[in-house]
Amino acid sequence: MIIHMAEGATIDQVERVINRITQDYGLRCETIVSNTTVIGVKGVASIVDEGRILELPGVDRVIRITEKYKDASRTFHPEDTIVWVAGKVPVGGRNLTFFGGPCAIESEQQALESARIAKEAGVDVLRAFVDKSRTSPYDYRGMDIKKGLEIAAAMKAETGLPTVSELIDLRHLDLFLEYGIDVIQIGARSAQYSPLLEELSKIDRPVILKHGFGNDMNEWLCAAAYIMSGIDRERRSVSEGNRNVILCYRGIKSFETETRFAADIGMIPLVRMKSHLPLIADPSHSSGDRRLVERVTYGFVAAGAHGIEFDIHNNPAEALCDGKQAVNHEARRIIENARRIHALLADVGIESGSTVSVAAK
Ligand code: PEP
Ligand code: MN
Repeated sequence: MIIHMAEGATIDQVERVINRITQDYGLRCETIVSNTTVIGVKGVASIVDEGRILELPGVDRVIRITEKYKDASRTFHPEDTIVWVAGKVPVGGRNLTFFGGPCAIESEQQALESARIAKEAGVDVLRAFVDKSRTSPYDYRGMDIKKGLEIAAAMKAETGLPTVSELIDLRHLDLFLEYGIDVIQIGARSAQYSPLLEELSKIDRPVILKHGFGNDMNEWLCAAAYIMSGIDRERRSVSEGNRNVILCYRGIKSFETETRFAADIGMIPLVRMKSHLPLIADPSHSSGDRRLVERVTYGFVAAGAHGIEFDIHNNPAEALCDGKQAVNHEARRIIENARRIHALLADVGIESGSTVSVAAK
């Protein structure tokens, strides 16, 4: 970070800026004086709030040289990160990984039947969601947590597949771990809820991080970097941080109401360029319509997604939650074709693991 002082800034004003950086943030400064004074900040400047520097008298501009989301940035970590789920399923790099299952667990029978269909379709990690944040709080929010987690464990035992489940309430984290949830998802509605991000930074269980409906890329990657950083609200390093973060693109709210959310396909290669983290995408919660899910999946995969998370239900017409966007046995065709597209692109030199669109062969 570089701080340009205005012409005519006084020595006292320069000192005040340096004091704020060194005392409030524990970072070091180097100063260059010519016509104006330029202060270079050394160390992890992600923790500096630009607004608190800009408001000081005599400060003209604050320029960030490195991204605020340092831990998630490709600048400092050129290689793709691969996150291993349950020690056996890789996500990221040249892998294409499928997460699928019902939007929510509704009953033991519904969950187990959906899990069987997902397994037959070729899903790698099962959605076993017990707690839901919904568009309306009056909608189905999932069953009793313990009962739901018991069913999630049964889905895993029946199929041998690892599970992913959304954590909404911090008080349930221990239960999630106790019942063997393999990936903890942070949904769009909690994507910037710092207490949740902070708690997940203290464990090493893989996390799928969605972005909020109105978040831009910078906000999303900052949340990811925060989980990885292991710092607390006082910017103290309290743990190693959780490096096992998987990003999930799900689209944002726009003026268009014909699809549920607007998913910009260009975000996939862009986020891949900016971050080394695995990036998957959710065609169900973005399109909101099962008739669109198949083609949107192919689009995401062709654009470079490392995987797909989608809703698969044993009986979408009777679903208590998001039946309109859930697929059934067609999940198998979708996964098979998506894998073909992925392999075909690798054959013509567009590797999923590459950040440029066409890699030299
Ligand atoms: C979900 O995956 O079930 C979900 C609610 O998605 P989102 O958080 O993206 O809305
Ligand atoms: Mn859903």
